[in-house]
Amino acid sequence: PSSILLYCRRGFEKECASEIQAHTLAAGVSGYIRAKENSAHVVFVAHEPNVLATQAASLHFDALIFARQRIFAIGPLSDLPVDDRITPLIGAAASLQRHYSTLWLETADTNEAKELAVFTRKFEHPFAAAAADLLSGGPQAPRLHVFFLTSTAAYLGYTLPGDSAPWPCGIPRLKFPRSAPSRSTLKLEEAFLVFVDRPETMLRPGMSAVDLGAAPGGWTWQLVRRHIRTTAVDNGNLAPVLLDSGLVTHLRTDGFRFRPSRPVDWLVCDMVEQPSRIARLVADWAADGAFRYAVFNLKLPMNKRYEEVERCRDLIEERLAGKGVFHRLRFRQLYHDREEVTGFLNLVS
Ligand code: SAM
Repeated sequence: PSSILLYCRRGFEKECASEIQAHTLAAGVSGYIRAKENSAHVVFVAHEPNVLATQAASLHFDALIFARQRIFAIGPLSDLPVDDRITPLIGAAASLQRHYSTLWLETADTNEAKELAVFTRKFEHPFAAAAADLLSGGPQAPRLHVFFLTSTAAYLGYTLPGDSAPWPCGIPRLKFPRSAPSRSTLKLEEAFLVFVDRPETMLRPGMSAVDLGAAPGGWTWQLVRRHIRTTAVDNGNLAPVLLDSGLVTHLRTDGFRFRPSRPVDWLVCDMVEQPSRIARLVADWAADGAFRYAVFNLKLPMNKRYEEVERCRDLIEERLAGKGVFHRLRFRQLYHDREEVTGFLNLVS
């Protein structure tokens, strides 16, 4: 493949492009960007056609912030004949990999592109039937992606399970739980799906948590649902369902001043504040070993959004470097995030 196709939130193409440029530069892959504002996708085209196949190993999907999915691709294949799109697509797929585990027909996450969904739904069955030989790989085989720009033009490529998002279009479809106090509950649920690789040990009943900026309680609700004792810090009111659980202590105090008397398992923070202020707060807690895991949202300013996240990353890294604390720090703009990204910090003792 000569291209890296990235899906992102509509309006974040610039951030996604800056980011992949930084990553490919660091990996020694030269190329250029194809991106259109509000198209919800970005393409990096390598100057050398086959360099990506060998360099892919050093470009980890988990390291990307603004990409919902990252596909090694060729294309766009344009002017697909309306009476036989299947033959050229199968030819292209066979030129990339011998076998695939599954087939995902996708479109960009924009209103215009979603109108193509009617077409992709109709096309999926005949295409999968014709490609049955190619689609006979085991679950570890690459997935085959066809990303339709129009009904006659598409990028085609693959992702590797374990180094990509495990959902079509990179979007986890989560159902809003009826008893949750706010829609933001889905952000923390998605953060757990994305960042927590061992839920049975990392989110155990009986653990402790602090939720800064908790009201009305969507994030606290996710913790309580997992039987985690939670101190919810906010001047605002919490939904009664949380107080009734017996697992929640509500403190009406300033989240920037509060500190628990003993380290907790989880710190979660959704206060609306300057990103660097939140990053400094998380770094302070981390430097003292006050949590094991933290999930925190950074509300991004209107411009320089990629730079702002990197600034916050540096701030936390610098603070921890002097302390000799082993840790893992990741950022991702989740599907349920809007003008914000979610950070995850895991301190390893
Ligand atoms: N995560 C919550 C949920 O799922 O329901 C929503 C949080 S809302 C986006 C932000 C909250 O942060 C507000 O309730 C606000 O009162 C609180 N907040 C802002 N600054 C704060 C501070 N300095 N200390 C405590 N809470 C603060």
